Amino acid sequence: MSVLAMDNAAFRYKGEKYIFKDVSFSLEEGQILSIIGPNGSGKSTLLNCLAGLLKLDTGEITLEGKSIASLKAREIAKIIGYVPQNHSPAYGYTVHDFVVMGRAPHLGIFASPGGREYEIAWQALESIGITHLAGRPYTEISGGERQQATIARVIAQQPNIIMMDEPTSSLDYGNQMLIVKLIRKLASEGYAVIMTTHTPDHAIMLDDTVALMDRSGGLNVGSTEDIMNEDALKHVYRVNLKLVYVEQAGRTVCIPCMGRVVGRGE
Ligand code: ADP
Ligand code: MG
Repeated sequence: MSVLAMDNAAFRYKGEKYIFKDVSFSLEEGQILSIIGPNGSGKSTLLNCLAGLLKLDTGEITLEGKSIASLKAREIAKIIGYVPQNHSPAYGYTVHDFVVMGRAPHLGIFASPGGREYEIAWQALESIGITHLAGRPYTEISGGERQQATIARVIAQQPNIIMMDEPTSSLDYGNQMLIVKLIRKLASEGYAVIMTTHTPDHAIMLDDTVALMDRSGGLNVGSTEDIMNEDALKHVYRVNLKLVYVEQAGRTVCIPCMGRVVGRGE
């Protein structure tokens, strides 16, 4: 059974054109879905639909075989850990406290987290190698460390699926790679991971499943190899580019070319 499946799905904001329609795909444990496409193509919208935060117009999303529409927010939170694009600063909290907040879906309404919750949070910090940040105030760590702390928080939530909206977009080169490698590690541990990115190379490096969105309601899902070809990328980003295999890097690299911009005014 797949952990997540989307069947014949379509979504549009009230009175607007479709963001996507006729979309079907499923994800297994350990699978990575990279959602790529230009600004405004609907990456966050798709992610929010998959997380149950927006309701589909037509079609169905199932989590572990159950329709997402039949699940309560708390039940969804036990399956999906969601890392939003801009998480609000947690004033006055240490990183360890912040990660403990991931336990919320597992606690009773009036319960405060106890020793066991702090233990689980510690294990989450350990699993991604950031226990040295535990006692630091959340507001005083770097952007890269904050992104790692936020990922530790969803790990503490003990979901099966981790969703992240542009987890690399505000990070420097080194920290971007840190997060890309962390996503690979999470997948190898059995999490299904869904992430959005502005960087085609990240999808190439993750080398699993890609959802490519365009601005006119197009959404194709398939393997990196099938979806990420020059014509499709040129079309959606409206830029001339080349996909080149670089032996020293051991992979195909996406290189934008200066000069001619294709497909303007479509
Ligand atoms: P992306 O994440 O790829 O940049 P979004 O999913 O944020 O794209 O947005 C897709 C489209 O939907 C954009 O045209 C955006 O303006 C529009 N949109 C986003 N949120 C809303 C909303 N709450 N109501 C109406 N339109 C929206
Ligand atoms: Mg977005």
